[in-house]
Amino acid sequence: MCGIVGYIGEKKAQPILINGLLALEYRGYDSAGIATIEDNKIQVKKDKGRVNNLYNLEGIQDLNGTIGIAHTRWATHGKPSMENAHPHMDNSNTFAVVHNGIIENYHELRDFLMQNGYTFLSETDTEVIPNLIHYHFEHNVLENNDKFLYAVKSAVNQLKGSYAIEVISSLYPDRIVVVRKDSPLVIGKSNGENYIASDIPAILPYTKDFYFLDDNEFAVIYQNKTEFYDASLVKHNKAIKNIDWDANAAGKDGFEDYMLKEIFEQPTAIRETVGSRFHLGEKCTFEDLNLSKEYLQNIHRIYIVACGTAMNAGLVGKPVFEKLCKIPVEVNIASEFRYQDPLIDENTLCIYISQSGETADTIAALKLAKAKNAKTIAISNVIGSSITREADYSIYTHAGPEIAVASTKAYTSQVVLVTMLAIYFAEQLDRCDTNTIEELKENILDLPTKVETLLQNVNEIKRFAKKVYTQKDMFFLGRGNDYSVALEGSLKLKEISYIHSEAYAAGELKHGPIALIENGVTVIGIITNPDLVEKSISNLQEVITRGARTLVITNQSLPNTHFDFVINIPETHPLLSPILSIIPLQLLAYYISKNKGLDVDKPRNLAKSVTVE
Ligand code: GLU
Repeated sequence: MCGIVGYIGEKKAQPILINGLLALEYRGYDSAGIATIEDNKIQVKKDKGRVNNLYNLEGIQDLNGTIGIAHTRWATHGKPSMENAHPHMDNSNTFAVVHNGIIENYHELRDFLMQNGYTFLSETDTEVIPNLIHYHFEHNVLENNDKFLYAVKSAVNQLKGSYAIEVISSLYPDRIVVVRKDSPLVIGKSNGENYIASDIPAILPYTKDFYFLDDNEFAVIYQNKTEFYDASLVKHNKAIKNIDWDANAAGKDGFEDYMLKEIFEQPTAIRETVGSRFHLGEKCTFEDLNLSKEYLQNIHRIYIVACGTAMNAGLVGKPVFEKLCKIPVEVNIASEFRYQDPLIDENTLCIYISQSGETADTIAALKLAKAKNAKTIAISNVIGSSITREADYSIYTHAGPEIAVASTKAYTSQVVLVTMLAIYFAEQLDRCDTNTIEELKENILDLPTKVETLLQNVNEIKRFAKKVYTQKDMFFLGRGNDYSVALEGSLKLKEISYIHSEAYAAGELKHGPIALIENGVTVIGIITNPDLVEKSISNLQEVITRGARTLVITNQSLPNTHFDFVINIPETHPLLSPILSIIPLQLLAYYISKNKGLDVDKPRNLAKSVTVE
């Protein structure tokens, strides 16, 4: 996930490119860079850090080219650094490329190029692209005007993964070639100039006329025209769309708040998390994990350590590891773990989860395990973050930047990644039958579509939020995984609506808290485990008898009951149900907060990354 901008026209490109990047900074912000062409020479300026840093780069003001491409990065391969920042050039400095996405087969392509004499300056997956273009340019017999486009096409044919790519060439200073697959790209048309961006807001100040590039479609953009080609380079016409957006609202892709946008990004985030790590019928791969079978066989205990939402994601991971790998798992709050003198030795594996990778308590808890010779794995959304530098191994959710303080897409991606990690271990250990594993994998691959279905109908949740937003207290009940979701749903509500709420294991309520249930109190039940449907219904019946108003989230067909609201969600493997059942609860917290007129994205007293103890 990152922001791409491009310009071709008569104006100086540099300020337009930097302004565009600033508008896209929510998409990625660990490094930024631009490339322009002047006197048939490509000039690149780039560095790690925020877009604003570009203004401090020596010579940036002297870039006078009227064609250029730009990028603000959300690193997936290689830490944020000057070398890894985009644009990337080929070895001959003929082509410059910016790329949004992940090239899954870049190892293979890199080997191929190295065998052909190419060298690499960065750790990115992206750097193979300009060199592949150069390779095909050199090996292509065509000697016509289309040679550049053909070289890009031949290179793209070899790419696996997701990409939106802009390419410029010192040999063709009159055009920008773009192509996309599974990453967004729009072209804005204006008078005698054209703009390119990952997202409309970056170029909305200049035009309201847009072409939306389709997957596997190429465009060659000149100052006065844009040509469109299909995957086989057959030229076609494309309709232009007029977008009458208010530039401010558009910063959030048309969503009112980042949180809502991120809730709706969950299908994409889950797809990115799964990435190329597994395919049906094949073993799961984690290239970055170098753990021997012998080591895995000797693990006596796994600790999953995290804070807040990440800890709730860890709770969902516990039964997956226990069922598939037969290893006992303890999930711990990082701020507690670090002071409890936990039983850790070299046969303990410690897994740490932190979206930002900067959570101070989690980092301290990781250092403790290292000092006791345990192996450590970090799960984070941010490449190069502190926790990933400390851990023995790091794996990434690739969910894209999460800006709203209340975590949504990071949670579902973390649950997916922890589950995949457990599958990976189970396959190495051979402690679980293949049918169970394959069924789980199939269900994981179906998750994005199911989340999409869920997000298509939010009216019932909106209606319920309107009914209950003035409440002072709420209760969330569930058993097993449904209890883990109850904890996360309750946390979301507290964070952004400031309503006091409690999550209880449904069977535990009668051991005390049921004393708090009185007429009109709201109780939310989650029922997804087919084996526990009746038990959970009985617990909810107990609160209905005492006057509670109930909302039930379920994927089971429930007998005729007296619930006030029922939200039906798609069925999935019971170990994965939290990924679907949390979504109505995220939306509930969101709409309650909106009804109360609160700042959803920046709730009081909270910060996105908690870098203090
Ligand atoms: N995979 C590329 C990188 O790590 C692009 C990431 C992005 O979309 O910002 O450099």
